[in-house]
Amino acid sequence: MVGIDLGTTNSLVAHFENGSPVVLANESGETLTPSAVAIAEDGTVLVGRAARDRLVAAPDSGRAFFKRDMGTTTTYKFGGRTWTPVECSALVLREMKRLAELRLGKPVDSAVITVPAYFLDQQRQATVEAAQIAGLKVDRLLNEPTAAALAYGYRNDAEINTLLVFDLGGGTFDVTLLESFEGVVEVKASSGESRLGGEDYTEALMEALIRKHNWKPEPAQRIRFREQIEKVKRALTTEASTQITMGDKEVEVTRKDFGEATHELTLRLRPVVRRCLRDAQLTAKQLDGVLLVGGASRMPVIGAVLLDELDIEPNRSLDPDRVVALGAAVQQALCVRDEAVRDLVLTDVCPHSLGVEISKMMSNQVDNGYFSPIIDRNTTVPVSRSQTYNTLHPTQDEILLKVYQGESRMVTENQKIGEVRVTGLRHFPGQKHPGVVDVRFSYDMNGILEVEITILSSGQKVAQVFEQRPGTMNKADIADAIARLRPLKLHPRDFPPNRALLERAGRLWSDLKGVDREVLTMLIDKFERALASQLPEQIHSTAAELTEFVRPYFPQEEE
Ligand code: AMP
Repeated sequence: MVGIDLGTTNSLVAHFENGSPVVLANESGETLTPSAVAIAEDGTVLVGRAARDRLVAAPDSGRAFFKRDMGTTTTYKFGGRTWTPVECSALVLREMKRLAELRLGKPVDSAVITVPAYFLDQQRQATVEAAQIAGLKVDRLLNEPTAAALAYGYRNDAEINTLLVFDLGGGTFDVTLLESFEGVVEVKASSGESRLGGEDYTEALMEALIRKHNWKPEPAQRIRFREQIEKVKRALTTEASTQITMGDKEVEVTRKDFGEATHELTLRLRPVVRRCLRDAQLTAKQLDGVLLVGGASRMPVIGAVLLDELDIEPNRSLDPDRVVALGAAVQQALCVRDEAVRDLVLTDVCPHSLGVEISKMMSNQVDNGYFSPIIDRNTTVPVSRSQTYNTLHPTQDEILLKVYQGESRMVTENQKIGEVRVTGLRHFPGQKHPGVVDVRFSYDMNGILEVEITILSSGQKVAQVFEQRPGTMNKADIADAIARLRPLKLHPRDFPPNRALLERAGRLWSDLKGVDREVLTMLIDKFERALASQLPEQIHSTAAELTEFVRPYFPQEEE
């Protein structure tokens, strides 16, 4: 069993061993696997770095950032077929499984997988399906900020600590408040935005520069420009200004330019922090610390916003890229009751209000579409709550109960999870509870909902686990997907790190000239011959030589 951080930009796998969590590295020593999938020219499926590199050269050959589309019916076309976000995620998870098996030297068939606290039910379900396709049973879906808190908090057994976890990843933003006390980590509240992250900052800076300089890049130029912008953004985390090429112009970009271009995005951060404090009934003064999670939390503006809003310097002692995976591994230790975490207890909350649609009788007129919450957001889970409802008409025989999640008074603005039909409510003389049903919602630690309805007059129960939720797959679909993604027999050439190295070397080859190009040709040929021989030692030594040559050309992308 392992803990997996299935991120928007990168994914990581970690394992709990000898009393602490460790992030596992692949054959090239890398711990961050880009969450990207692409098809190589020869039709091979590329995952991770090889895929990301290929996408730079051939943007239509694959896909990245599919986590944002999880739980939707979006599909992508590349490599001559259609892909779903679930299938793309499954390939990344399968690579995580392979990496863990390689490092641990034994089969890995289950995992704790982290998801943004703000992930809706469909998105969680889609994540479970991706894991199934990858051959992993999900022991627990763990909210990312909760994972982060576990990574920081699992040793913290001293005093009571009230912590705010600020998690700004590539595509999502979550704020969580938790209290840890003698090994009990209790999530008090969590709020966020599922479509705000570092990638939006990149896009905003890119658009602002293109507008300011009135530049009209070709699509291919645009993609390369975006890569550069990503580097500029990171550079501005440590420097006050930097340079970028736009067409044939060299342009200076300052932190101030970046700040102005992304002002609107930064404005969206504070209300989420405030709402979370309000839900937990805490004030900033009661906080003992702020933890930063997610690569984009490194941006200086984040520290500034938090200092201004909460008057606290955030804690940066753990690497924001790894902390979620580390926490997933702590949760894994909890699941298998590892001795080192014997005294640790974790409680979490459900991030959305859950309820049903009701109609109201207003001066003899029926008004539809109201949301009646049964479980309020930020209630500690697992939780089971029930509420009774009456039929509108005395002779009504049937109810179609529609289940929603969200925070709006009207259901149209909330997200529908599913519906349950209940029949057999008819009146008969002497009936004690005509047309009254009890609706019980049970929400578990994985964030999955079960609904049970009891007709009070007869005691008859209708229980529904939403197996066919919108955008989800049934068992046959999953079996199909597994068959479709079943690996061709893996030749060493097709191991993702080897593919990645070849892709990268190929990219570099196009950039080089003269002697350098010749040396690179020689190294690639040697590596190719070693791969063809399938001899591990030769592959290892030639890969090391090639890596040493290639690495200095990609300094920004190294960890
Ligand atoms: P995650 O999903 O947590 O891996 O977050 C990745 C996001 O963090 C991407 O949008 C990156 O551009 C961003 N990021 C990573 N490192 C930095 C940095 N040093 N400065 C600014 N943004 C960063």
